[in-house]
Amino acid sequence: MNSFNDELNLRLTALREQNLFRELRRVDSAQSPRLEINGQTFLNFSANDYLGLANHPALKEAAIKAVEKFGAGAGASRLISGSLAPFHELEAALAAFKKTEAALTFSTGYTAALGTICALVGKDDVVILDKLIHASIVDAAKLSGAKLRIFDHNDTNDLEEKLRWANHRQSPIGNRQSAILVITESIFSMDGDRAPLSEIAALKEKYGAWLMVDEAHATGIIGQNGRGLADELGVSDKIEIHMGTLGKALGASGGYICGSRALIDFLVNRARSFIFSTAPVPAAAAAATAAIELTQSAEGETRRKDLWLLIELLNSKLKIKNSKPESAIIPLILGDEAKTLAAAAQLREQNIFVPAIRYPTVARGAARLRISLTAAHTSADVSELLNALADLKFQI
Ligand SMILES: *Cc1c(COP(=O)(O)O)cnc(C)c1O
Repeated sequence: MNSFNDELNLRLTALREQNLFRELRRVDSAQSPRLEINGQTFLNFSANDYLGLANHPALKEAAIKAVEKFGAGAGASRLISGSLAPFHELEAALAAFKKTEAALTFSTGYTAALGTICALVGKDDVVILDKLIHASIVDAAKLSGAKLRIFDHNDTNDLEEKLRWANHRQSPIGNRQSAILVITESIFSMDGDRAPLSEIAALKEKYGAWLMVDEAHATGIIGQNGRGLADELGVSDKIEIHMGTLGKALGASGGYICGSRALIDFLVNRARSFIFSTAPVPAAAAAATAAIELTQSAEGETRRKDLWLLIELLNSKLKIKNSKPESAIIPLILGDEAKTLAAAAQLREQNIFVPAIRYPTVARGAARLRISLTAAHTSADVSELLNALADLKFQI
Protein backbone atom coordinates (compact mmCIF):
# COMPACT_ATOMS: atom_id res chain seq x y z
CA MET A 1 0.00 0.00 0.00
CA ASN A 2 2.83 2.38 0.83
CA SER A 3 4.53 1.79 -2.48
CA PHE A 4 1.20 2.52 -4.19
CA ASN A 5 0.96 5.92 -2.51
CA ASP A 6 4.68 6.55 -3.05
CA GLU A 7 4.21 5.97 -6.75
CA LEU A 8 1.23 8.34 -6.89
CA ASN A 9 3.10 10.98 -4.92
CA LEU A 10 5.94 10.78 -7.44
CA ARG A 11 3.46 11.34 -10.24
CA LEU A 12 1.89 14.26 -8.40
CA THR A 13 5.31 15.83 -7.86
CA ALA A 14 5.93 15.59 -11.59
CA LEU A 15 2.65 17.39 -12.25
CA ARG A 16 3.58 20.14 -9.79
CA GLU A 17 6.99 20.56 -11.41
CA GLN A 18 5.30 21.11 -14.78
CA ASN A 19 2.77 23.57 -13.29
CA LEU A 20 0.02 21.12 -14.21
CA PHE A 21 -1.17 20.23 -10.70
CA ARG A 22 -4.86 20.96 -10.14
CA GLU A 23 -6.85 21.26 -6.96
CA LEU A 24 -10.44 21.79 -5.95
CA ARG A 25 -11.56 25.08 -4.42
CA ARG A 26 -14.55 24.77 -2.16
CA VAL A 27 -17.34 27.25 -2.90
CA ASP A 28 -19.91 28.01 -0.20
CA SER A 29 -22.45 29.80 -2.39
CA ALA A 30 -24.53 29.08 -5.49
CA GLN A 31 -23.02 29.41 -8.98
CA SER A 32 -23.62 33.06 -9.80
CA PRO A 33 -21.52 36.12 -10.72
CA ARG A 34 -20.31 36.15 -7.10
CA LEU A 35 -18.72 33.15 -5.42
CA GLU A 36 -17.88 32.72 -1.78
CA ILE A 37 -14.55 30.99 -1.25
CA ASN A 38 -12.88 30.79 2.19
CA GLY A 39 -15.19 33.50 3.50
CA GLN A 40 -14.20 35.88 0.68
CA THR A 41 -16.38 37.01 -2.21
CA PHE A 42 -15.04 36.68 -5.75
CA LEU A 43 -16.34 38.07 -8.99
CA ASN A 44 -16.82 34.91 -11.05
CA PHE A 45 -15.77 34.69 -14.71
CA SER A 46 -15.40 30.93 -14.82
CA ALA A 47 -18.87 29.42 -15.30
CA ASN A 48 -20.52 28.16 -18.48
CA ASP A 49 -23.83 29.28 -17.01
CA TYR A 50 -24.12 31.75 -19.91
CA LEU A 51 -27.74 32.78 -19.36
CA GLY A 52 -27.36 32.93 -15.58
CA LEU A 53 -29.96 30.19 -15.09
CA ALA A 54 -28.13 27.86 -12.66
CA ASN A 55 -29.49 29.83 -9.72
CA HIS A 56 -32.72 31.05 -11.37
CA PRO A 57 -35.94 30.82 -9.30
CA ALA A 58 -37.88 29.13 -12.15
CA LEU A 59 -35.35 26.29 -12.37
CA LYS A 60 -35.13 25.92 -8.60
CA GLU A 61 -38.90 25.79 -8.29
CA ALA A 62 -39.18 23.17 -11.04
CA ALA A 63 -36.52 21.06 -9.31
CA ILE A 64 -38.21 21.34 -5.92
CA LYS A 65 -41.59 20.35 -7.39
CA ALA A 66 -40.01 17.34 -9.08
CA VAL A 67 -38.39 16.26 -5.81
CA GLU A 68 -41.75 16.52 -4.05
CA LYS A 69 -43.55 14.43 -6.66
CA PHE A 70 -40.83 12.05 -7.91
CA GLY A 71 -38.41 11.90 -4.98
CA ALA A 72 -34.65 12.29 -4.89
CA GLY A 73 -33.48 9.35 -7.00
CA ALA A 74 -34.63 7.52 -10.13
CA GLY A 75 -34.24 3.99 -8.72
CA ALA A 76 -32.58 2.32 -11.71
CA SER A 77 -31.82 2.68 -15.38
CA ARG A 78 -34.82 3.91 -17.38
CA LEU A 79 -35.16 0.56 -19.17
CA ILE A 80 -35.32 -1.33 -15.86
CA SER A 81 -37.56 0.45 -13.36
CA GLY A 82 -39.71 2.48 -15.71
CA SER A 83 -38.91 5.83 -17.21
CA LEU A 84 -40.02 8.76 -15.03
CA ALA A 85 -42.28 11.38 -16.61
CA PRO A 86 -39.84 14.34 -16.17
CA PHE A 87 -37.43 12.70 -18.65
CA HIS A 88 -40.19 12.36 -21.24
CA GLU A 89 -41.28 15.96 -20.75
CA LEU A 90 -37.67 17.10 -21.12
CA GLU A 91 -37.12 15.06 -24.29
CA ALA A 92 -40.32 16.37 -25.89
CA ALA A 93 -39.23 19.94 -25.01
CA LEU A 94 -35.73 19.34 -26.43
CA ALA A 95 -36.99 17.84 -29.71
CA ALA A 96 -39.39 20.78 -30.18
CA PHE A 97 -36.63 23.27 -29.29
CA LYS A 98 -34.10 21.73 -31.69
CA LYS A 99 -36.80 20.97 -34.30
CA THR A 100 -35.90 17.30 -34.54
CA GLU A 101 -38.16 14.24 -34.47
CA ALA A 102 -36.92 13.03 -31.12
CA ALA A 103 -34.42 13.45 -28.30
CA LEU A 104 -32.71 11.33 -25.66
CA THR A 105 -31.10 12.55 -22.45
CA PHE A 106 -28.12 11.14 -20.60
CA SER A 107 -26.60 11.84 -17.14
CA THR A 108 -24.04 14.19 -18.70
CA GLY A 109 -22.82 15.46 -22.05
CA TYR A 110 -19.76 13.30 -21.54
CA THR A 111 -21.80 10.10 -21.29
CA ALA A 112 -24.02 11.23 -24.19
CA ALA A 113 -20.91 11.37 -26.40
CA LEU A 114 -19.59 8.07 -25.07
CA GLY A 115 -22.84 6.14 -25.52
CA THR A 116 -23.76 7.61 -28.88
CA ILE A 117 -20.45 7.39 -30.73
CA CYS A 118 -19.74 3.86 -29.50
CA ALA A 119 -23.26 2.78 -30.54
CA LEU A 120 -22.93 4.22 -34.04
CA VAL A 121 -19.43 3.22 -35.14
CA GLY A 122 -17.00 0.34 -34.63
CA LYS A 123 -13.70 -1.01 -35.90
CA ASP A 124 -14.70 -1.07 -39.59
CA ASP A 125 -15.79 2.59 -39.56
CA VAL A 126 -13.94 5.92 -39.62
CA VAL A 127 -14.37 8.87 -37.23
CA ILE A 128 -12.99 12.24 -38.35
CA LEU A 129 -12.54 14.86 -35.61
CA ASP A 130 -11.55 18.52 -35.45
CA LYS A 131 -8.17 18.83 -33.74
CA LEU A 132 -9.68 20.90 -30.88
CA ILE A 133 -12.68 18.65 -30.25
CA HIS A 134 -13.71 18.14 -26.61
CA ALA A 135 -12.16 15.33 -24.55
CA SER A 136 -15.50 13.53 -24.19
CA ILE A 137 -15.59 12.99 -27.96
CA VAL A 138 -11.94 11.99 -28.20
CA ASP A 139 -12.49 9.41 -25.46
CA ALA A 140 -15.66 8.14 -27.12
CA ALA A 141 -14.01 7.87 -30.53
CA LYS A 142 -11.09 5.92 -29.04
CA LEU A 143 -13.39 3.60 -27.11
CA SER A 144 -15.48 2.92 -30.23
CA GLY A 145 -12.52 1.20 -31.89
CA ALA A 146 -13.17 3.08 -35.15
CA LYS A 147 -10.25 4.33 -37.28
CA LEU A 148 -9.51 7.88 -36.11
CA ARG A 149 -8.48 10.80 -38.28
CA ILE A 150 -7.95 14.37 -37.02
CA PHE A 151 -8.30 17.41 -39.26
CA ASP A 152 -6.63 20.75 -38.53
CA HIS A 153 -8.83 23.06 -36.53
CA ASN A 154 -11.66 24.46 -38.70
CA ASP A 155 -9.67 23.57 -41.84
CA THR A 156 -12.16 22.29 -44.42
CA ASN A 157 -9.42 21.52 -46.97
CA ASP A 158 -7.82 19.16 -44.49
CA LEU A 159 -11.23 17.72 -43.63
CA GLU A 160 -11.84 17.02 -47.31
CA GLU A 161 -8.50 15.25 -47.56
CA LYS A 162 -9.48 12.99 -44.65
CA LEU A 163 -12.93 12.41 -46.17
CA ARG A 164 -11.40 11.45 -49.51
CA TRP A 165 -9.16 8.95 -47.77
CA ALA A 166 -12.05 7.50 -45.76
CA ASN A 167 -14.32 7.36 -48.79
CA HIS A 168 -11.66 5.47 -50.73
CA ARG A 169 -11.33 2.74 -48.12
CA GLN A 170 -15.09 2.33 -47.59
CA SER A 171 -16.16 -1.29 -47.99
CA PRO A 172 -19.22 -3.41 -47.33
CA ILE A 173 -19.52 -4.85 -43.82
CA GLY A 174 -22.10 -7.61 -43.81
CA ASN A 175 -25.15 -5.94 -45.27
CA ARG A 176 -24.01 -2.34 -44.79
CA GLN A 177 -21.32 -0.02 -46.03
CA SER A 178 -18.66 1.07 -43.51
CA ALA A 179 -19.59 4.44 -42.04
CA ILE A 180 -17.73 7.75 -41.92
CA LEU A 181 -18.65 9.97 -38.98
CA VAL A 182 -17.48 13.59 -38.89
CA ILE A 183 -17.66 15.34 -35.51
CA THR A 184 -17.14 18.99 -34.65
CA GLU A 185 -18.18 21.46 -31.99
CA SER A 186 -20.14 24.49 -33.15
CA ILE A 187 -18.47 26.81 -30.60
CA PHE A 188 -15.13 25.53 -29.34
CA SER A 189 -15.01 25.24 -25.57
CA MET A 190 -11.56 26.67 -24.85
CA ASP A 191 -11.13 29.06 -27.82
CA GLY A 192 -14.67 30.34 -28.18
CA ASP A 193 -14.50 30.38 -31.98
CA ARG A 194 -17.07 29.01 -34.45
CA ALA A 195 -16.85 26.03 -36.79
CA PRO A 196 -17.59 26.57 -40.51
CA LEU A 197 -20.68 24.37 -40.22
CA SER A 198 -22.13 25.13 -43.67
CA GLU A 199 -18.93 24.07 -45.43
CA ILE A 200 -18.56 21.01 -43.19
CA ALA A 201 -22.17 20.00 -43.88
CA ALA A 202 -21.63 20.37 -47.65
CA LEU A 203 -18.51 18.19 -47.47
CA LYS A 204 -20.17 15.47 -45.46
CA GLU A 205 -22.98 15.34 -48.07
CA LYS A 206 -20.45 15.15 -50.90
CA TYR A 207 -18.74 12.14 -49.32
CA GLY A 208 -21.81 10.43 -47.90
CA ALA A 209 -20.59 10.80 -44.32
CA TRP A 210 -22.61 11.34 -41.15
CA LEU A 211 -22.28 14.57 -39.19
CA MET A 212 -22.42 15.02 -35.42
CA VAL A 213 -22.27 18.54 -33.98
CA ASP A 214 -21.67 19.29 -30.30
CA GLU A 215 -23.47 22.56 -29.47
CA ALA A 216 -22.44 22.59 -25.79
CA HIS A 217 -21.38 26.26 -25.91
CA ALA A 218 -23.94 27.52 -28.44
CA THR A 219 -27.24 26.09 -27.22
CA GLY A 220 -29.15 28.78 -25.36
CA ILE A 221 -27.12 31.73 -26.62
CA ILE A 222 -26.83 31.54 -30.43
CA GLY A 223 -29.54 31.28 -33.10
CA GLN A 224 -33.24 32.02 -32.92
CA ASN A 225 -34.46 31.38 -29.35
CA GLY A 226 -30.96 30.10 -28.59
CA ARG A 227 -31.40 27.02 -30.77
CA GLY A 228 -27.71 26.93 -31.64
CA LEU A 229 -25.30 27.75 -34.45
CA ALA A 230 -26.65 25.07 -36.82
CA ASP A 231 -30.05 26.75 -36.63
CA GLU A 232 -28.55 30.19 -37.20
CA LEU A 233 -26.73 28.94 -40.31
CA GLY A 234 -29.75 26.99 -41.56
CA VAL A 235 -27.93 23.65 -41.65
CA SER A 236 -29.78 21.79 -38.88
CA ASP A 237 -31.37 19.37 -41.36
CA LYS A 238 -27.96 18.26 -42.61
CA ILE A 239 -26.82 17.15 -39.15
CA GLU A 240 -27.67 13.57 -38.27
CA ILE A 241 -26.67 13.85 -34.61
CA HIS A 242 -27.18 17.02 -32.56
CA MET A 243 -25.42 16.83 -29.22
CA GLY A 244 -25.26 19.17 -26.26
CA THR A 245 -25.36 19.55 -22.54
CA LEU A 246 -28.04 20.74 -20.15
CA GLY A 247 -25.34 21.92 -17.74
CA LYS A 248 -24.11 25.09 -19.45
CA ALA A 249 -26.45 27.83 -20.73
CA LEU A 250 -29.40 25.67 -19.67
CA GLY A 251 -28.22 25.90 -16.07
CA ALA A 252 -29.11 22.34 -15.01
CA SER A 253 -27.32 19.03 -15.56
CA GLY A 254 -27.33 16.24 -18.13
CA GLY A 255 -26.52 15.62 -21.78
CA TYR A 256 -28.73 15.29 -24.83
CA ILE A 257 -28.85 13.87 -28.33
CA CYS A 258 -31.46 15.20 -30.77
CA GLY A 259 -32.18 13.63 -34.16
CA SER A 260 -34.45 11.25 -36.02
CA ARG A 261 -36.83 8.83 -34.30
CA ALA A 262 -34.69 6.00 -35.70
CA LEU A 263 -31.53 7.46 -34.10
CA ILE A 264 -33.18 7.79 -30.71
CA ASP A 265 -34.76 4.31 -30.81
CA PHE A 266 -31.37 2.90 -31.81
CA LEU A 267 -29.60 4.67 -28.92
CA VAL A 268 -32.15 3.41 -26.39
CA ASN A 269 -31.19 -0.09 -27.58
CA ARG A 270 -27.47 0.36 -28.08
CA ALA A 271 -26.00 3.29 -26.09
CA ARG A 272 -24.28 1.56 -23.20
CA SER A 273 -23.88 4.69 -21.06
CA PHE A 274 -27.67 5.08 -21.26
CA ILE A 275 -28.57 1.41 -20.74
CA PHE A 276 -26.15 0.51 -17.95
CA SER A 277 -26.46 3.61 -15.79
CA THR A 278 -29.06 4.77 -13.28
CA ALA A 279 -31.25 7.52 -14.69
CA PRO A 280 -30.32 11.05 -13.53
CA VAL A 281 -32.23 12.62 -10.65
CA PRO A 282 -35.69 13.69 -11.90
CA ALA A 283 -35.12 17.17 -10.42
CA ALA A 284 -32.32 17.81 -12.92
CA ALA A 285 -34.64 16.93 -15.82
CA ALA A 286 -37.41 19.19 -14.48
CA ALA A 287 -34.96 22.09 -14.06
CA ALA A 288 -33.69 21.59 -17.62
CA THR A 289 -37.25 21.57 -18.99
CA ALA A 290 -37.91 24.87 -17.21
CA ALA A 291 -34.68 26.25 -18.71
CA ILE A 292 -35.67 25.25 -22.26
CA GLU A 293 -38.99 27.03 -21.77
CA LEU A 294 -37.28 30.10 -20.34
CA THR A 295 -34.72 30.20 -23.14
CA GLN A 296 -37.53 30.52 -25.70
CA SER A 297 -39.42 33.19 -23.73
CA ALA A 298 -39.17 36.98 -23.80
CA GLU A 299 -36.99 36.76 -20.69
CA GLY A 300 -34.65 34.41 -22.53
CA GLU A 301 -34.41 36.91 -25.38
CA THR A 302 -33.60 39.73 -22.94
CA ARG A 303 -30.95 37.61 -21.25
CA ARG A 304 -29.33 36.80 -24.60
CA LYS A 305 -29.34 40.48 -25.53
CA ASP A 306 -27.76 41.44 -22.18
CA LEU A 307 -25.13 38.74 -22.58
CA TRP A 308 -24.15 39.82 -26.11
CA LEU A 309 -23.85 43.47 -25.01
CA LEU A 310 -21.42 42.41 -22.28
CA ILE A 311 -19.47 40.24 -24.71
CA GLU A 312 -19.14 43.15 -27.13
CA LEU A 313 -18.14 45.51 -24.31
CA LEU A 314 -15.37 43.22 -23.06
CA ASN A 315 -14.18 42.43 -26.56
CA SER A 316 -13.96 46.06 -27.64
CA LYS A 317 -12.04 47.05 -24.52
CA LEU A 318 -9.61 44.15 -24.84
CA LYS A 319 -8.97 45.14 -28.47
CA ILE A 320 -8.85 41.53 -29.51
CA LYS A 321 -7.67 41.04 -33.11
CA ASN A 322 -10.82 39.25 -34.11
CA SER A 323 -13.06 42.22 -33.44
CA LYS A 324 -16.34 40.36 -33.96
CA PRO A 325 -16.96 38.29 -30.83
CA GLU A 326 -18.13 34.77 -31.64
CA SER A 327 -19.23 33.45 -28.25
CA ALA A 328 -19.30 34.07 -24.50
CA ILE A 329 -15.83 32.54 -24.13
CA ILE A 330 -12.90 34.94 -24.28
CA PRO A 331 -9.52 33.22 -23.97
CA LEU A 332 -6.44 35.26 -23.09
CA ILE A 333 -3.68 32.97 -24.29
CA LEU A 334 -0.45 33.41 -22.32
CA GLY A 335 1.16 30.16 -23.46
CA ASP A 336 3.38 29.40 -20.51
CA GLU A 337 1.75 27.39 -17.72
CA ALA A 338 3.57 29.07 -14.80
CA LYS A 339 2.81 32.53 -16.17
CA THR A 340 -0.87 31.66 -16.57
CA LEU A 341 -1.09 30.30 -13.01
CA ALA A 342 0.56 33.45 -11.69
CA ALA A 343 -1.84 35.66 -13.64
CA ALA A 344 -4.86 33.77 -12.26
CA ALA A 345 -3.43 34.09 -8.73
CA GLN A 346 -2.96 37.83 -9.22
CA LEU A 347 -6.56 38.18 -10.32
CA ARG A 348 -7.68 36.24 -7.24
CA GLU A 349 -5.78 38.72 -5.08
CA GLN A 350 -8.17 41.30 -6.54
CA ASN A 351 -11.09 39.00 -5.79
CA ILE A 352 -11.60 38.01 -9.39
CA PHE A 353 -11.99 34.35 -10.24
CA VAL A 354 -10.80 33.35 -13.73
CA PRO A 355 -9.57 29.81 -14.37
CA ALA A 356 -6.05 29.06 -15.64
CA ILE A 357 -6.66 26.48 -18.35
CA ARG A 358 -3.73 24.17 -18.97
CA TYR A 359 -2.77 20.83 -20.49
CA PRO A 360 -4.48 18.41 -20.96
CA THR A 361 -7.51 20.68 -21.44
CA VAL A 362 -5.48 22.60 -24.04
CA ALA A 363 -2.13 21.75 -25.68
CA ARG A 364 1.09 22.17 -23.70
CA GLY A 365 2.37 25.73 -24.10
CA ALA A 366 -1.11 27.00 -24.98
CA ALA A 367 -2.19 27.84 -21.42
CA ARG A 368 -4.72 30.60 -21.04
CA LEU A 369 -7.01 32.58 -18.81
CA ARG A 370 -10.47 31.54 -19.95
CA ILE A 371 -12.97 34.31 -19.29
CA SER A 372 -16.63 33.42 -19.61
CA LEU A 373 -19.45 35.92 -19.35
CA THR A 374 -23.04 35.37 -18.30
CA ALA A 375 -26.25 37.36 -18.63
CA ALA A 376 -26.19 37.74 -14.85
CA HIS A 377 -23.03 39.89 -14.99
CA THR A 378 -23.32 43.68 -15.17
CA SER A 379 -21.24 46.18 -17.13
CA ALA A 380 -19.78 47.25 -13.75
CA ASP A 381 -18.56 43.66 -13.28
CA VAL A 382 -16.90 43.77 -16.70
CA SER A 383 -15.24 47.11 -15.83
CA GLU A 384 -13.90 45.59 -12.62
CA LEU A 385 -12.45 42.70 -14.62
CA LEU A 386 -10.89 45.07 -17.17
CA ASN A 387 -9.25 47.11 -14.38
CA ALA A 388 -7.82 43.99 -12.82
CA LEU A 389 -6.53 42.76 -16.19
CA ALA A 390 -4.89 46.15 -16.82
CA ASP A 391 -3.06 45.79 -13.50
CA LEU A 392 -1.64 42.39 -14.38
CA LYS A 393 2.14 42.40 -14.31
CA PHE A 394 2.06 40.27 -17.45
CA GLN A 395 1.53 41.41 -20.97
CA ILE A 396 -1.73 39.90 -22.19
C1 LIG B 1 -18.83 20.47 -21.22
C2 LIG B 1 -18.74 19.83 -22.55
C3 LIG B 1 -19.19 18.53 -22.76
C4 LIG B 1 -19.62 17.64 -21.64
O1 LIG B 1 -20.85 18.01 -21.13
P1 LIG B 1 -21.17 17.72 -19.58
O2 LIG B 1 -22.63 17.77 -19.49
O3 LIG B 1 -20.46 18.75 -18.81
O4 LIG B 1 -20.62 16.33 -19.31
C5 LIG B 1 -19.17 18.05 -24.04
N1 LIG B 1 -18.73 18.79 -25.07
C6 LIG B 1 -18.25 20.03 -24.90
C7 LIG B 1 -17.78 20.81 -26.07
C8 LIG B 1 -18.23 20.58 -23.64
O5 LIG B 1 -17.73 21.80 -23.46
